[in-house]
Amino acid sequence: MRDDIKEVYFTEQQLAEKVAELGARITEDYRDRNPLIVSVLKGSYVFMADLTRRIQTPCNIDFMVVSSYGKGTKTSGEVQIIKDIEQPIDGRDLLIVEDILDSGVTLNYLMQVLMARGANSIRLCTLLSKPARHKVHVPIDYLGFEIPDEFVVGYGLDYAEKYRNLPYIGILKPSVYGGE
Ligand code: 5GP
Ligand code: MG
Ligand code: MG
Repeated sequence: MRDDIKEVYFTEQQLAEKVAELGARITEDYRDRNPLIVSVLKGSYVFMADLTRRIQTPCNIDFMVVSSYGKGTKTSGEVQIIKDIEQPIDGRDLLIVEDILDSGVTLNYLMQVLMARGANSIRLCTLLSKPARHKVHVPIDYLGFEIPDEFVVGYGLDYAEKYRNLPYIGILKPSVYGGE
């Protein structure tokens, strides 16, 4: 699998340091507010597991599955809720955990839907952001790293459902996509 990687962007250690930093900030901001932390699957599953273990104040955990991409590397712009949050969000302080903010279309849609359900507050924590590709403005409250317009894999992020289990984040060799 390592043979498929062209370049490592963030090592396991760099990711762990950033996650600890974000966890500490979230702990301070949400102390005694019992936030509902919602991971948008599947891409954020690794980040979510690491991040929540760095949050040292009581919280609830939930998951959503939203589809916006097929097998390819570009968004279709369509968003569908496949699996919803399982608890009432009325009056709750929500923290959405995402792997990457690309066009922002998915998150923009999600935040609107959740706000309309009566959440008290909604903040976004995303590990990665690609500013060059943002199509709609989505405010990021907690950001890991900004990255250039490259398709990254690892640490939960897939290409055609592979590479999620890589402990680091990197980009693939063009040969993996059937190129040179
Ligand atoms: P958006 O709605 O912001 O365009 O798309 C967000 C979702 O697209 C992310 O949560 C992620 O699942 C997927 N995505 C966007 N960019 C990348 C990328 O560089 N690599 C991978 N593996 N998935 C991406
Ligand atoms: Mg995602
Ligand atoms: Mg994907």
